[in-house]
Amino acid sequence: MKSSSISPQSAVSFKGYYDADKIKLFEKYLEYYKRANPYLKKTDISTMRNSISSYNAFLKGAETINPVNVENQIYKKMGIPAHFDNDKHLASMVSLALNIFKKLNFVLPTSIKKGPLEYGTRAICSTKDRSVIFSSLEDWSNTQESQIMERFENHTSTGHFLRTPIHEFMHSVHIAQLNKLAYIKEKVTENAYGKWLSMVLKIPDFKTEMANDAGTPFKEGNAMQYIIQHVSGYGATRPCEMFADKGAQMIADSLDFKTILPKHNPFVFKNFTEDKYINKMLDDFWMGNFSKYIQEEKSK
Ligand SMILES: [Zn+2]
Repeated sequence: MKSSSISPQSAVSFKGYYDADKIKLFEKYLEYYKRANPYLKKTDISTMRNSISSYNAFLKGAETINPVNVENQIYKKMGIPAHFDNDKHLASMVSLALNIFKKLNFVLPTSIKKGPLEYGTRAICSTKDRSVIFSSLEDWSNTQESQIMERFENHTSTGHFLRTPIHEFMHSVHIAQLNKLAYIKEKVTENAYGKWLSMVLKIPDFKTEMANDAGTPFKEGNAMQYIIQHVSGYGATRPCEMFADKGAQMIADSLDFKTILPKHNPFVFKNFTEDKYINKMLDDFWMGNFSKYIQEEKSK
């Protein structure tokens, strides 16, 4: 386990990780947002408090790294081409997130880079090849504050500073799963009609179809309202976003604040007191069952 993980930071020092001023400011905002956002949960708050401490250690560690070395390590140990454009903070964040996914035994993205994206888009994961791009317009050296504010506003599901890479890597995990399902569907159809006939009949492109369904807006209704209350506003836009944002929250809530690794696998040891409706949706989205949740016109 140890040998395959990346250690970009020669030493993450937890000496002085506690920043009294930052915590004080956080608590001040918290007082207000506890009233303004009724969906802010106790776990969200403790995850944010822990994240502030992890983030202080992260900032010190990030200063000492060489992004090119990190790129080489990621390629050597995980086979993933990575280009950070000399951004120390992004390189550190990505390697921490990769270590988390490696520990959870999840499929990893196929490539990672920093590049130009539309203004307002922080990162994307391609449905075609599961490559992840982080925006070159974003200031990656100052991510904790904005993540907390976005959770406070209920736009996102967690205020952890690693939310963006974890959210994107969850998209990649989901896409890999949907591709697998599409492949099985294709084979079953081919066997049913025979290869030649199925070419003539043109079997639908299941891969594209499933990716499209996952990315189709939710229809107005119970599921959407429920996601707003229990995941996030952004998660309530599309099934793929619900999956990625809920996953990001589950992972962030499981992290040890010193090692920044999951204390347990939140997807295996499911807490039985956990929300049944959310779990049902996650299962449906994992199995490619989107139709009853999404708007009609684009679903076929
Ligand atoms: Zn997303």
